[in-house]
Amino acid sequence: MTIETIKRIIEEENVRFIRLQFTDINGILKNLEITPDVFLESWEDGIMFDGSSIEGFVRIEESDMYLKPVLDTFAVLPWTVDGAKSARVICDVYTPDGKPFEGDPRYRLKRMMEKAKELGYTPYAGPEMEFFILPTNEKGEPVPEFLDHGGYFDLLPLSKAEEIRRDVAIALEKMGIIVEATHHEVAPSQHEVDFKYDTFLRTADNAQTVKLVIKTMAIFHGYYATFMPKPFFGVNGSGMHVHMSLFKGDQNAFYDPSKPLELSDDLRYFVGGILKHARALAAVTNPTVNSYKRLVPGYEAPVYISWSVGNRSALIRIPKARGKATRLEYRSPDPSCNIYLAFAAILAAGLDGIINKIEPPAPVEENIYHMTSERREELNIESLPGSLKEAVEELKKDDVIIDALGEHIFEKLVEAAEKDWKEFSTYVTNWELQRYLYL
Ligand code: GLN
Ligand code: MG
Ligand code: MG
Ligand code: MG
Repeated sequence: MTIETIKRIIEEENVRFIRLQFTDINGILKNLEITPDVFLESWEDGIMFDGSSIEGFVRIEESDMYLKPVLDTFAVLPWTVDGAKSARVICDVYTPDGKPFEGDPRYRLKRMMEKAKELGYTPYAGPEMEFFILPTNEKGEPVPEFLDHGGYFDLLPLSKAEEIRRDVAIALEKMGIIVEATHHEVAPSQHEVDFKYDTFLRTADNAQTVKLVIKTMAIFHGYYATFMPKPFFGVNGSGMHVHMSLFKGDQNAFYDPSKPLELSDDLRYFVGGILKHARALAAVTNPTVNSYKRLVPGYEAPVYISWSVGNRSALIRIPKARGKATRLEYRSPDPSCNIYLAFAAILAAGLDGIINKIEPPAPVEENIYHMTSERREELNIESLPGSLKEAVEELKKDDVIIDALGEHIFEKLVEAAEKDWKEFSTYVTNWELQRYLYL
């Protein structure tokens, strides 16, 4: 998209505000709202902002930063506030000396995209976004109770959730993001939105928009959408499975009809890389204390480090589709992750597999949850970390993932995770009160 086109859209649609969006280290979307005049004057040089209070950015003494709009991401928001239209444009963060900011999550992903390109690949990804829709109280705050009692693929004619999902699809389509499917998920009040795959970078940008639109549409209906990985004990949590493939030109590099199962060496090595780094990756793809309450047996979430061509108990599954649609599905990520960092780290792991020809263990087709621990040991099947603490310890040992994050973000992530872990491990929960109060 050119600046001329943007100028025309602003005039034709009477856009009154431009939201400059970027993402902090926790994956939270931030925005600075400016007028179209300021935008048109300063988009080329960048718009200065104070980065000192942004989570994971910089200290007070070096806080001036610049937002440089990525023109291709310009889109008019399909809803108005008091009749005034806004548009959003996603930005890269730059330092005053004109360099990309090392701590900008989007920059970390761009860097890995470059690396993939140097190796001759374009990586594509499509996530499955799961979330809960919750009721709110009189103050509009979410109440952790079920709104409906539906299950997988249920049609709930009288539920507002159906309307919210449809509004999400319509709003996203107006912003150029195609929603391919939406449905009720397994747990009560749980839903899924699947949008069309694109490059890792585009998909990460899109995912941030998808989350914003889901939250916005829920609020418009008087409800609240949460991406917390495991809001309720005893039912499925919310995952964000990621389907991915590498292309060389217009050929899917994961497809090779001459190989067993028609899966290429690239695919096998990519799987090998992800499995090798899976324990460290968890600190990025599952970055909250709560994430690890999802990764337990019995709720369709992965626990064991393995891959499979059909079986959903594996961490990586290869769906049946072949040819251009050949892909792998990585099932560990949850929607509380910073998707830019998660994608950068996953890509780093997979490319490490390709560069170093990392052979994965044989695929496991038995249901791993039904295996004895002896059988798992025999097959050499390790587990994902059981806690955020364990994941962070793994991350500290993994130079490939640390390099993907960069020192700046690595240090901030570890610091934040250790602080949360310490607080959580000394917090007295309701479970403990119920269990021990009458001792
Ligand atoms: N909610 C499950 C998870 O946590 C996935 C369920 C599904 O998509 N069938 O990963
Ligand atoms: Mg799905
Ligand atoms: Mg699902
Ligand atoms: Mg899936």
